[in-house]
Amino acid sequence: MDVQKKQLLKWIDDDRDRLVDFLSRFLQARSPNPPGDTREAAKHITDFLDEEGLPYRIIAPKEEMVNIVGSFDGGSEGKHLVMNGHIDVYPVGDAKGWKYDPWGGIVEDGRIYGRGSNDMKAGTTTSIFTYYYLHKIRNQLKGRLTLTCVSDEETFGPWGARYLMEHHPEVHGDTLLNGEPCAHQIRFGEKGILWLKLTVSTPGAHGAYEHVSPSATKVAARLMLELDEAISRLAHSAPDNVRKALEEARDIIEEGYGEGAFETLQRTTINFGTIHGGLKVNMIPGEVVIEADIRLPVGQRKEDVLPVIDRVLENYPKVIYDEVNYTAPSYCDPNGEMVGILKENIKLVEGRESKTLIAMGGTDARLWRYEGVPAYVYGPYAKGMGGKDDYVEVDEFIDIVKVHVLSAYDYLSR
Ligand SMILES: [Zn+2]
Repeated sequence: MDVQKKQLLKWIDDDRDRLVDFLSRFLQARSPNPPGDTREAAKHITDFLDEEGLPYRIIAPKEEMVNIVGSFDGGSEGKHLVMNGHIDVYPVGDAKGWKYDPWGGIVEDGRIYGRGSNDMKAGTTTSIFTYYYLHKIRNQLKGRLTLTCVSDEETFGPWGARYLMEHHPEVHGDTLLNGEPCAHQIRFGEKGILWLKLTVSTPGAHGAYEHVSPSATKVAARLMLELDEAISRLAHSAPDNVRKALEEARDIIEEGYGEGAFETLQRTTINFGTIHGGLKVNMIPGEVVIEADIRLPVGQRKEDVLPVIDRVLENYPKVIYDEVNYTAPSYCDPNGEMVGILKENIKLVEGRESKTLIAMGGTDARLWRYEGVPAYVYGPYAKGMGGKDDYVEVDEFIDIVKVHVLSAYDYLSR
């Protein structure tokens, strides 16, 4: 092994307690979104950067949603690698039924517990320490390393990575690395999300007077079945390299997301998340509002889906719809340079082969892919993510740090 890589691994091993302590205190700094106020957690990061004399600046178009951006140049010209992680986490609610205080950052039996531990304060800590270790040896590196710790990710809001990508092109770089949870597999893409709000309106009437008005609930029921059928028939063609990568990861996808996931990942789905309608049992409802959540596979666009919706709605003149949210699917080269580097280092650190796959959910990595920058995700298991007592194992956390640090080093030194 490269002498420099040995040195990097030794630093990480020597810093094990420090890394765990950093993450634990990061978890104690509350940053639930909503409301998305990350000032306390951001201060935890900037205190560290200040202490180590690392360059950074704050970009906060919305005061309580802090973004931290830092960059340094290597000793010679080369490529530009960007590390990205988010600071905000899922909310907790009343914390009923939690065994461990969600804001306690408790370390017990080889695990670090806390809201957002795996999604994604462990990954963001990984990016911060990658920045720290590589800064120590910056003169031996080629190119440039940029760190972006952002807010406003959990609600797909506009004040975090989206703001940076639109207003600060200096964070685009040549490749992105992100530590969102992904069960120790490399992710090179993710499905798209299209939310629609459908409103069914009829005159409504007394419950006994069926001849007076069509029932908005009955119309809604027929409509949902028809939409479900039309959407599930939608064909699309994923690019060849994507199909091939997924085929190779088939077992892992089924294992990780549950039986049937391989197929779900590659088709369009529609979920009616909420239905609201009717006032009283003895009235014919005059309005129903449906929220539909459509997921688009890689290779498909909103422009392929909306005409299908429109065609179904031709038979439903009483229905209108609004587009509430759209996030296009994204992907990059499943065989790109960083994939080779990651696979090598995963083998070295964790002693196993890894696959490349597409994510079901969304991450900020998509924003880089939209700009044509290859963006890869490699992170821990999502144990308890969004539920109770989420945690990350200390060993896997340290492994993730090692894989990111070595991969960033390889990318900037070859
Ligand atoms: Zn996340």
